[in-house]
Order: sequence, then C-alpha cells, then structure tokens
Amino acid sequence: TVMVGKRVRSRKKWRRVVRVLRDLEEACETTVGRLRQVVDAMAVEMHAGLASEGGSKLKMLLTFVDNLPTGCEKGTYYALDLGGTNLRVLRVQLGGERSPNLDQDVESQPIPEHLKNGTMEDLFDFIASSLQQFSERKENGSGQSQLMRELGFTFSFPMKQTSVSSGILIKWTKGFAIENMVGREIAGCLQQALTRRGLNMRVAALVNDSVGTLALGHYHDADTVAAVILGTGTNACYLERTDAIIKSQGLLTTSGGMVVNMEWGSFWSSHLPRTSYDIELDADSRNPNDQGFEKMISGMYLGDIVRRVILKISQETDVFGPVSSKLLTPFTLWADSVAAMHEDDSPELTEVARILKRDLEIQDVSLKVRKLVLRICDVVTRRAARLVAAGIVGILKKIGRDGSGGSTGGRSRSDANIRRTVVAIEGSLYTGYAMFREYLHEALTEILGEDMAQHVVLRPVEDGPGIGAALLAASQSTQTVDSVQ
Ligand code: BGC
Ligand code: MG
Repeated sequence: TVMVGKRVRSRKKWRRVVRVLRDLEEACETTVGRLRQVVDAMAVEMHAGLASEGGSKLKMLLTFVDNLPTGCEKGTYYALDLGGTNLRVLRVQLGGERSPNLDQDVESQPIPEHLKNGTMEDLFDFIASSLQQFSERKENGSGQSQLMRELGFTFSFPMKQTSVSSGILIKWTKGFAIENMVGREIAGCLQQALTRRGLNMRVAALVNDSVGTLALGHYHDADTVAAVILGTGTNACYLERTDAIIKSQGLLTTSGGMVVNMEWGSFWSSHLPRTSYDIELDADSRNPNDQGFEKMISGMYLGDIVRRVILKISQETDVFGPVSSKLLTPFTLWADSVAAMHEDDSPELTEVARILKRDLEIQDVSLKVRKLVLRICDVVTRRAARLVAAGIVGILKKIGRDGSGGSTGGRSRSDANIRRTVVAIEGSLYTGYAMFREYLHEALTEILGEDMAQHVVLRPVEDGPGIGAALLAASQSTQTVDSVQ
C-alpha cells in the first residue's frame, strides 16, 4: 500500500508536469497560418514606420547609407564593434578589388558587466583604450603610426542618425543602462575619448550592426538586400527605395535607395504567441514594455524563458528537487547553454545534467526529467526561430520579393523572372545553434513554399558588423591618395 500510494503521487505529479508542458506548447504555437499573420503584420508595420515618425513600434531608422560596398574599397581601416556582449576591434586592409578573403586582424573581449550600467566616460574610455592598445600593436614597426586613420564604429543600439557618421542614442537595449546618454551624439563621444588619448583617428562611419552586416554581405554578393542579427539582441535592416520613405519626403540619394535600420526587436503584433513567461520576463527586464519581439527571440532572453518554465514546474512539483537560488535568479541561463542542452544526443543526456547543475544548481535528475528539459528548450527555440522566419518574409513581402506577386501588379510569375534574394545573417544564435538554424530554414520554406524558398538565400557573414563598418568607413573616406597605402 505504501508502494501504491507512492505510485499514485508520482502519477499525479507527472500529470501536473505534463499540463505545464502542454500549456507551454499551446501558447507557443506557430502554425503556418499564424506565421503568415506575423508576416503581414511585419509588412504593415514597416509601411507605417516609414510613413511617419512614431507611426509604428518599428522605428524604421534612416542610416544615410545610400551605397553599399562594391569591392573597389581600398586602404587600411579600423573598426570598433560594440555589441551586446563583446567589444571587437578590427583592422581591415582593402585591396581595391573584391576578395573572398579579406585581410583582417580581429581582437575580441567581453564588455565588463559594470561598464554596462556605469558612466559614459568609463565606457568610452574602455573602448578607446582597447583601440589604442590594438592599433599600437598593429602599427608597430610599420613606421606609419603617425598617419591619420579612418574608423568605422558599429554601435549596436537604436540611433537617430543625422549623417552616415553621426547619430543620437534613442534608448538602451540588451541590459545596458548608462544614465545621461540617451540623446547624446555617439560618434562625438567616441571622438572625444580618442582625442583624450591622443589617437589620430577619425570616425568616418557610425553604423548599426545590422547595417555593417548588410554592407559586408553586399560586398561578397551583390544580390544581398537585407541583413538580420541573431545574437544577444536581434534586428534587421534592408535596402529601401527613397521614395518609399514617406516620412522624409524630398530625401534624395544618388542611388535612389537607402538602408533602413528597422529595429525589429521592438516589433509587436497581437498575432505573436505570447506566454505568461514572456510577460514575467518583460517585467523583470531593464526595459519593460519594450523590445517585445527581441525578448521572444534573442540570445539574451531565450535561456531565461526556459528557466522560467523549469521554475514553474519546480514550484508545482518536486521533479527538479529543492528550488535553488540560481533557479530563482533572472537571466542566469544563457542561450549557449540552451543550445548545448538542446543538442545533447548522448543516451543519458549527460550534457543536460551537467548544465542544469552548473547553471541552475539542479542536481541528480532522472533521465525522464532531462528529457523534459530538452523538450522545453525545443519548444522555446522553435518558436523563436519560426518568428524570425516570419520576420524575414515580412521584409521580402515589403520589397516585393516574397513571390506573392504584389509588386509585379498581379502578373503571373514564372521561375525565370523571380530574382535571387540574399539575406546576410550574423550572430551566434544562427551560426552556433544548428537546431535554431534548422527550424528557421524549415519555417521559411513552409511560409514561402518550396519553389519560392529556393530563390531566397540566407548567408552567414562572419564579423559582418565590424568588417562592414570598415567597408563603409572606406566608402565615406576622405583619405588623400598618398595616405592610402
Ligand atoms: C538593438 C539593435 C541591434 C540588435 C542586435 C538590439 O537590441 O536595439 O540596434 O541591432 O540588438 O545587436
Ligand atoms: Mg554583435
């Protein structure tokens, strides 16, 4: 009878676990029908954001980048890529003709946590000193350290640009919260820090990371018309016709186009499959009521959704043992851990067990519980990847490249007149997480249909944000001929 009592309790317990899981699956449902609604909503919001300032949650920011790199760029350029997690410093040598292997040096270091919510001076001094040390090492002995160098600065936050080399911070995202910086001109802040250190460099281009990625993508492949970032944060940009940018009427560019930074992280639609976990995560974040799309997708948040589901089950049953303090702490589980657990194909799921212990202090759980965790990772990641696919198709729809025939005036389409479209992609969620990538591709094919999907190429571009910024610095360069080596 003791045994029977135990079995009954265990069955009840698992019934509760299964209910939480089913609720999660249901709330995260992304049928093709629903994804198509997200596609439409994305395209509609893009129109609204282009029509008027504040017309949509999508900011659709002007970048003043009207020409994308062609391969003719020449000279030595530096770049700084301030992402959500790392600072990368680069030196790129451009030979004047397109080359599949760009000559580059890169150094990366994590941004110290205290600088993310410290002072503006400390952040920019950290950036400037990293650049100084790097450039001293690189220029050492070349006898060229006195040369003025041009710099591309990738600043991965929303900016209102006033030119291709200046812009004002609109707001912080991704856990940054430095006071008194919103409203400041970013290139000027960096330039001052460089000057304080006596560095002979000029900020020639100030770009969002998505824009840098589009620039590098286009350098490699001229069919590239959009770029997507899937890292700590998420965003997309694309090439738009200037006459479609209604809010800045009269905007003229020689190319007739301009790159628009969508800031799609703040996209919102009632069609998005939102769960109670998303709502709680948002409330606990540094930027509540903001970046709703980003919080369902990007690396900074994916793990925390998983953590919240595990916590919920822990509060209802004892399958995870006692609730640890780490399990109670927001943002302790990172996306790389989710990827590692999700991709654990060992029979005993030893990697899942190891990470549960290391990251959440959950010890000695049975195989059944490990499988449960894997399932949670799968549901959360699948939703994220499929939403990205819908976002991408939304862009394609806006520019008439989704195969729906909207822009061809209803003419019947044949394979021959569908143009190849390349979308450049950067970020560890895509490059370092095979399941994420697979779910994304799968959904893209589901939404577009197999025939159309063949014409859409997602192309990973390594170090897109940084190298792209160097390329854009090169095309904006004021270097005289003899300073171009
Ligand atoms: C920022 C974007 C950035 C993206 C990817 C978002 O949080 O708002 O500007 O492009 O992260 O880094
Ligand atoms: Mg980055």
